[in-house]
Amino acid sequence: MLVDLKTLVDEAARQHRAVGAFNTANLESVRAVIDAAEKRGEAVILQHAELHETVAPLAIIGPIMLGAAKRARVPVCVHLDHGEDPAYLKQALDLGFTSVMVDASAKSFEENVAITQKVVALAGQYGASVEAELGRVIRPASGGGGDDPSHLPPDAQYTDPEAAGKFAAATGIDALAIAFGTAHGVYTAKPVLDVDRVAAVREAAGLPLVMHGGSGVSPADYRAAIQNGIAKVNYFTYMSLAGAAGVQSLLQQKGEGVRFDEMAEAARLAMQADVERAMGLFAGA
Ligand SMILES: [Zn+2]
Repeated sequence: MLVDLKTLVDEAARQHRAVGAFNTANLESVRAVIDAAEKRGEAVILQHAELHETVAPLAIIGPIMLGAAKRARVPVCVHLDHGEDPAYLKQALDLGFTSVMVDASAKSFEENVAITQKVVALAGQYGASVEAELGRVIRPASGGGGDDPSHLPPDAQYTDPEAAGKFAAATGIDALAIAFGTAHGVYTAKPVLDVDRVAAVREAAGLPLVMHGGSGVSPADYRAAIQNGIAKVNYFTYMSLAGAAGVQSLLQQKGEGVRFDEMAEAARLAMQADVERAMGLFAGA
């Protein structure tokens, strides 16, 4: 069943849990996430980011994600992750995506507000939800962004509660992605999360919050972040690594003569197991 983001994150926030949002740039990951969600009987978010356009063009993978969401026995939101180009955002909405993230977080506060307001107006015409970002989550060049503010002091990188309150009121968004110590991609140093900041931003913005870049975050830190207001967790890198590990163990078992469709199956099943584990963590299990 296809649903919007607001429905899912509002309910998750009330229940002090988070909905998993998984980047699914191939058929194997679409099926892995839906199968995991159906097995657990929980809602889930499929999302696509522009940086995966070379892996799977939105025009091809978008209808596959939407078809899988509509057929699913659990509520599924189909969301555009990290939209920066207005034409790309519109393409997702035209396809039927029920939510978009507009990411103008590297711009000034005023520009971020102005850009986000335009996307809220556009998405409103489609009945779709909007996530925006305030603060700067580290995004290495290899992660498709090249925004690395880690040389800045925490107050210059992390989301300011007062600014978040103003941003929420000025834009009318449905969910806010915040920076509080996480980083995209494979982690290189153990992240130190500012969980008190999560609670302060949640209080000031009055919105369900989104955590990007969960790499290297311990289960205890996930739980603390979710208890304090994170209602959507973006998850990709470690699911993808689990898929690759599934392929590697198949190759070790069978050696030469392994077919690609067998590799794809091994990846799908390994990703499903990892997604089930992640969903359990986000649900507070
Ligand atoms: Zn992100």
